[in-house]
Amino acid sequence: MNIAPHPNDLRPIIEADRRHVWHHMLQHKPLETNDPRIIVEGKGLKVWDAAGREYLDALSGGVWTVNVGYGRTSIADAVRDQLVKLNYFAQSAGSIPGSLFAQKLLEKMPGLSRVYFNNSGSEANEKVFKMVRQIAERHNGGKKWKILCRERDYHGTTIGTLAASGQLQRAAMYGPYPDGFVMVPHCLEYRKQWDVENYGERAADAIEEVILREGPDTIGLLCLEPVTAGGGVIVPPEGYWPRVQEICRKYDILLHIDEVVCGLGRTGTWFGYQNFGVQPDFVTMAKGVASGYAAISCTVTTEAVFEKFKDDADPMAHFRDISTFGGCTAGPTAALENMRIIEDEGLLDNCLAMGARLRANLLALKDKHAVIGDVRGLGLFQGAELVKDRATKEPVDEKSVARVIAEAGARGVMIGASNRSIPGLNNTLCLAPALVVSAAEIDAITAAIDGALTAVFG
Ligand code: PMP
Repeated sequence: MNIAPHPNDLRPIIEADRRHVWHHMLQHKPLETNDPRIIVEGKGLKVWDAAGREYLDALSGGVWTVNVGYGRTSIADAVRDQLVKLNYFAQSAGSIPGSLFAQKLLEKMPGLSRVYFNNSGSEANEKVFKMVRQIAERHNGGKKWKILCRERDYHGTTIGTLAASGQLQRAAMYGPYPDGFVMVPHCLEYRKQWDVENYGERAADAIEEVILREGPDTIGLLCLEPVTAGGGVIVPPEGYWPRVQEICRKYDILLHIDEVVCGLGRTGTWFGYQNFGVQPDFVTMAKGVASGYAAISCTVTTEAVFEKFKDDADPMAHFRDISTFGGCTAGPTAALENMRIIEDEGLLDNCLAMGARLRANLLALKDKHAVIGDVRGLGLFQGAELVKDRATKEPVDEKSVARVIAEAGARGVMIGASNRSIPGLNNTLCLAPALVVSAAEIDAITAAIDGALTAVFG
C-alpha cells in the first residue's frame, strides 16, 4: 500500500521546507541542490516520504521514540477527547489524565512514588540536577552538590545537561559550563581500560576512585544511562550495577537513571534498570513515554526526596521550578493509552522475542562480515560496532558509516548510527524498531544491513 500523495502535490511544501526550516543534526549545504526528506505518513513500522518512497523504520522515528508504532488511532482519539474537554492548566493544579497516568506509571516502578511532568528528556534531567542542588543548599549545608556522570553517556541538549554528558566533542563549542559535573570512566568492555577478569566490578570501582578523589561529601548524585544509547549501545557488564548501588549507598549518593531511551519497554522490561535489579532514587524518561504522539517527559523520584521539599516552618518551601507545558493534558493522556497498548498487546514479550531474533541475525552477519567487531544490546535496542580491523579495533570512518546507512535506505530500511558527528563514537550501527515489529520485518531489516555492508565493504 502506498498512501503518500503524489510527489507533485507536495512541491510547494518541499520548497517551503527548503527555504524556511532548519533541520536538526543536518548540514544544509546539500539541500541547496537536493530535496529535503519530508516524512508524510506512517503505519506500524512503515513510513512514506514526500517522494512516495516507502521505508521500514528500524529506528522508531529516527531517535528511538515511537515505541508502539505509527498510526495509533486510539491514542489520537483519547487525546482529541481530552483536548476538547481541557487542553491545559498549569501543573500547580492537577489534571485527571496526569493523576491517572502517574498512578499507572508508578505501579511499574516499585520504590518510587512521585512524578514531575515536563516536555523533553533534557528538561527532565535538568530537574534532577536542580533538585539535588536545592537539597544540597537546604539540607546538606552546601555539601553534596556535585554530580557524577559517565563518559559516552548523553543527557541532553541544554547547557546543564551537556555539562553532564560524557561526549566531549558534542559539548565542545558551547562552554563555559556550570561547575560541579564530574566524569567517571565508561564501562564498555569491548574497549577495555583495565585488564581484569571481573570487568563490571572493576569499571564500577572506578566510580569509587573518582568519589574519593573529589571527596565523598561533595558528591550528591550519580547520573547514568541504564544502557548507554547514542554513545554506542553499551550494556554494562555483569557485576557493574550491583557494585554501583553499593557505592551509592556507602557514600550516601543519590542514584539517577536516565531512561529517556530505555524507558517504556525498549529493552523488554518497563525500564532498563529493571534488567539489573538496581533501585534508583531518580528516574527520568521521555521519548517512549507517549511514543511521540505528544510531548511529555517525567522526573520520577522517591517519597524521601519529595519530603525534603516540604517544611511546616517555611511557607515558601517548595521546588523552585516550573515547566509551562508540563501542564498540557495531551501528554499524560497519550502516555496512559501508550501504556495500555504495551500491556494489552503484550509488547514487552514481543520485544524480548524479536530482540533475540534481531540479535541472532546480527551475530550471523558478524560471522559473514569482518567489519562487524562487536554486537551488543538488550531487547529491541541493538548495536553493531564497525571496525577496520578486528585485532586493532580501529573504528571505520564516518563516511563509510554514512554510506552503510544510505545503502540500507536504498534497500528501503532506515537504520542509524551512534553519534554520527563524533569521530570514534560514530561507528556503531543502531537498531531500535518499534516494539510491534514482526519476525518478517526483523529479517527484512537485517537483510538490508547485509546488502549495505556488502555494497560498502565488499
Ligand atoms: N537522555 C538520553 C539518554 C537521550 O538519548 C536523550 C536524547 N537523545 C536525552 C536525554 C535528551 O532528550 P531530549 O532530546 O528529549 O531533550
